[in-house]
Amino acid sequence: MASTETRHILSLSGGKDSAALAVYLRDRIENMEYIFNDTGKELPETYQYLDRIGDYLGRPVTRLNAETTFDHWYDMYGGMIPSNHRRWCTKMLKLKPFEQYVGDDSVVNYIGIRADENRKGYISHKTNITPAYPFIDDGLVLDDIKRILRDSGVGLPPYTEWGRTRSGCYFCFYQQKIEWVALLERHPDLYAKAEEYEKEFEPTGNLFTWSNGEKLSDLRKPERVAQIRADAAKRAAKQKGRGKNLRLVDVFRREFEQDPEFEEGCLVCSV
Ligand code: SF4
Repeated sequence: MASTETRHILSLSGGKDSAALAVYLRDRIENMEYIFNDTGKELPETYQYLDRIGDYLGRPVTRLNAETTFDHWYDMYGGMIPSNHRRWCTKMLKLKPFEQYVGDDSVVNYIGIRADENRKGYISHKTNITPAYPFIDDGLVLDDIKRILRDSGVGLPPYTEWGRTRSGCYFCFYQQKIEWVALLERHPDLYAKAEEYEKEFEPTGNLFTWSNGEKLSDLRKPERVAQIRADAAKRAAKQKGRGKNLRLVDVFRREFEQDPEFEEGCLVCSV
């Protein structure tokens, strides 16, 4: 039976914006429910970060697990790796479990999209779910988010230290080439697992890949890694030439953040 009271739910992605939103709203919204849609394919650093956020909030973060796993759906789709245009993973592993968790209750879902972003996220079409965008309403931009995280002691997600710009599955197709290189170095076991998904798509014999048509077994070759690094260094130098003395990791983060396609991690209603 549907609850008569409106529920307030904040979806954490494991990324910085939703973490900052949780900090920002901790003492403003009573009875906030914090949730995390766990695909079971997250980076270990994301789980560490969620623990850190939970400690700060002093409240549990409920982990929603899809009843059926990524691997189940991967098999159901005949081995078709998801992509920006075939995003079955988000629908099956994030949106559906979220809608199931909400049921028919009236819910306000708080989403960490900033005022300096041009997107609305992946919105549930259920009429009982109302999205709320406090950062947009209050005009908070990237620098504000960094300040909120710094002042609270929660800090930035630990995976940003080694060059990953977003949360989400370790094999997420949104990664840039240089992030795959970083994954290869930091988590060679996870890189190898991602490689295993790149098999022939049974119905057509096509090979779907995680990284824009390039197989991970090719991307890991030393000469290719060197090339990706060189390209990345060139882009960093270009930024420096514009007077921006940025670390390489900041260059990529910045590019993502200025990209209209940029989406921090993959969370329900803000995938
Ligand atoms: S993080 Fe990437 S791969 Fe994982 S569910 Fe979201 S969009 Fe799909």
